[in-house]
Amino acid sequence: MPPKTLTSTDRLQLLLPWLNGDLGRDVSRARPARWRVEERRAFDRGADENVQTWIDYQQVRAAVDDFVKSFDGSEGAAHLVAKPTDKVEALSEAALDRLGAALTCLLEQGFGEPMLQGDLCPLVLTGVELAACPAPREKPRWRKATKANPRVVLVGPSGLGAQARRDWLASGAYVLRVRGPLVAVVPYLAAHLLLRAGMVALKRCARRDQPPWADCHKVFVIDPTRRGRPQQFCATSCGRRYKEQEKMMKSRRRRGRKKS
Ligand SMILES: [Zn+2]
Repeated sequence: MPPKTLTSTDRLQLLLPWLNGDLGRDVSRARPARWRVEERRAFDRGADENVQTWIDYQQVRAAVDDFVKSFDGSEGAAHLVAKPTDKVEALSEAALDRLGAALTCLLEQGFGEPMLQGDLCPLVLTGVELAACPAPREKPRWRKATKANPRVVLVGPSGLGAQARRDWLASGAYVLRVRGPLVAVVPYLAAHLLLRAGMVALKRCARRDQPPWADCHKVFVIDPTRRGRPQQFCATSCGRRYKEQEKMMKSRRRRGRKKS
């Protein structure tokens, strides 16, 4: 089976499970078997400290690696070729956390978050080197004469003879080579995907900023070329939960009105 051609949406999709927090889970601190009053108060006061997030960094590294390696200069890769100077295995957990924060900030900036705008959270990419190169091309070769094909002919990847020569000598389509440390190369690649017209469209889950259900901060990508009803929620299960909660809140409000 030929390898699947990745689209720009597929590429960004590689990073989203990580950035949406799907590669981690909350681990609660064990509750004491028997509560004393002051213990319960302390537990309630430090509610945030009682939950720790465990992140599967092995999966995070695999996702970053797949994302970077997918930049091969093709159309769906926004004509970028990534040449990182370090290995993803060498990135510490803290470095991955910082990279995740920078990427999340980049995605959120597009939604006009006032606290994340350019002057407050600029994206500083140290060590990124750019170079324009001609798109990789295969040189045509002479095919030797055989009994079946007695003619000596030029063979190129897209044609024979004059066609092969024309393709080889055609004016070059540029690709941009991006070299540097992964912590800088990855945000550069992501920003480039987001900024090119018609590449990817990013959306926030409809459950965001919907008090009292403001509990989904996920973003998802939609294919701008797909037709039909636009997706509203990050997942079908999220939409289902929203409907259930809405129903619950409605009946609660109704009961409240009856009482008064
Ligand atoms: Zn959601």
